[in-house]
Formats: sequence, C-alpha cells, structure tokens
Amino acid sequence: MPEGDSVWKAARRMRGHLVGRTVVRSDFRVPQLATADLGGRSITAFDSYGKHMLTRFSGGLTLHTHFKMDGAWQVVGPGKRLPRTFDDEIRLVLETDGPTAYALRMPVLELVETAREDEVIGHLGPDLLGPSWDEDVAVDRLLRDPEAPLVEALLDQRNLAGIGNLWAVETCFLRGHSPWTPVRDVDLRATVRLARRMMQHSLDHPGQVTTGNTRRGETHWVYGRAERPCRRCGTPVAFRDAVTGKPWSRETWWCPHCQPGPFPSLAERPTRPGFRRGVNEESFGSRGRRLRGAPGYARGARG
Ligand SMILES: [Zn+2]
Repeated sequence: MPEGDSVWKAARRMRGHLVGRTVVRSDFRVPQLATADLGGRSITAFDSYGKHMLTRFSGGLTLHTHFKMDGAWQVVGPGKRLPRTFDDEIRLVLETDGPTAYALRMPVLELVETAREDEVIGHLGPDLLGPSWDEDVAVDRLLRDPEAPLVEALLDQRNLAGIGNLWAVETCFLRGHSPWTPVRDVDLRATVRLARRMMQHSLDHPGQVTTGNTRRGETHWVYGRAERPCRRCGTPVAFRDAVTGKPWSRETWWCPHCQPGPFPSLAERPTRPGFRRGVNEESFGSRGRRLRGAPGYARGARG
C-alpha cells in the first residue's frame, strides 16, 4: 500500500500535469458514478491528505480517491491513450484540453461537494506532510489509548495521517522500541518527529530509504528482512504476520535485541507450514502485482 509520501508525490506530479486544465470528457467506469459528468469543469487542485487524494474541480466539486493496495493515477500526453491492455483496470478517464488522466484499479472513487470534504477525510488525524500538521493534536490522539501497541497506533490514520507500514516498522526500530510497546511508555514527540522527518526527506529523494544507504538491498533496517541479520547487532530479524480482526495490525519486522519490550506470544505468531516469511524488501512497490493470487494471502481482509 502506498504510504503518505508516495501519495504526496503522486499528487505533486498530477498537479503539474493537470491543474488549470479543463475537462473535455470524463468517463467513470464504476457503477455508482456511471452517469457523472465532469465535462466543462476546470481542475483547480490536486492535493493529498494522508493516503487520500483530493482532486478539486470548478463549481465546488471534489473527487476523492484512495489507492488502497495498488490503485494508481496515470497520465498520457495530449491526444494519446493508454494501451488497451489496461482497459480492465480503468475506473475513470479524465480527458482534458491537455493531457489525459486515468484512475487505475482505484478501490475508492467518489464525488463530494468541496465544502463537504470532511465527510470523507474528517475522521483522519493531522497529515504529517500537510500544511496543517499539528504535533500536539497527533500526540494527544496517540495517547487516547495509552495501552495501544506503538506500531498499530502509528498506523491508525485517525491518530495521524500518512504513516504506512514501512515507516511505522522502521520508526520503531530507530527509536529502539519493540513494535508492541504501549504508547504510554514511548516519547511520542520524538517518535512522531522522526517519522515525519524521514517521510519529508523521501519527498525529494527516490526510494524510501531509512538507513541512509541507497544501495539495493541496503535501504531498510528491518522492513522486509525476516530472518536476516540485524544491521546493528546481527540478531536475526523477527517477523510476524498481520493478525486477522485487528484493523491496524500489519506484517511486522523487528530486532528482538535492539528493540526490547513486549512482543506477541508464540500462540499469536502463526507458523503454519509454508507460511510466507514476509516480503522481500526489494519487492516493495510492486508487491501488489507480484503476489496477487498467491496461495493463502488474505489481502482483501486487510484493506
Ligand atoms: Zn539488532
């Protein structure tokens, strides 16, 4: 799933192509919007909020999209179109007086009045990468459930918006906490500042590097490195799969030595035969396609 910084970068790219353009033709290929027509409206903004995208049109209309696991926006130059092999994946064609934009595989696609955007993003905490970022509010919200495991609290978008699994897992490592440390035992300001600093750095640098080393296979401390030696102490990196029924539980990696604190009991760490031991960090960003249909992979349940 794209993290907040990836969505932010996508919004920046789309903004450059489309803001100021007028829609010549729109073609929604989702049943609930089949009759919607954006023709004649100009595109006034392309913004991100956490992992959500807001495309605003003249006349006070906003298109809300969310990539979830593998949605994407694509742009082609004037007069061009995407190859037909993409036809099954197209959810919206936005033809403008300049480029044409396509929303692909987008699981969330809805129109709201711009004045009522709160209905779709109002539940979210402060956006780490947004102009209205507020550390005090984020820390207050993180503390609403003092017993919550750190990694899950960081991923809960109602606390703060934009952190995905990569940043959550790597932040826990760099702060030296087991991912299951209750938030009440954590310096939340320092933790949130670190996550934000790493994400901000990512906005102007390729990849999502936490180690400072951009060499292939060296970019992360623990993310995607199950059973490989910790870069700091050599202890094999531990892995736990997401727990079904816990909405903010995700695949988790940690170093049991560098990250002291509570960790799940063995009973909570399923080890069925052939169990996938976590994604390879090299595959980050292309997991959606690579793993689609892999046996036993309950992607849909994790949304
Ligand atoms: Zn270690």
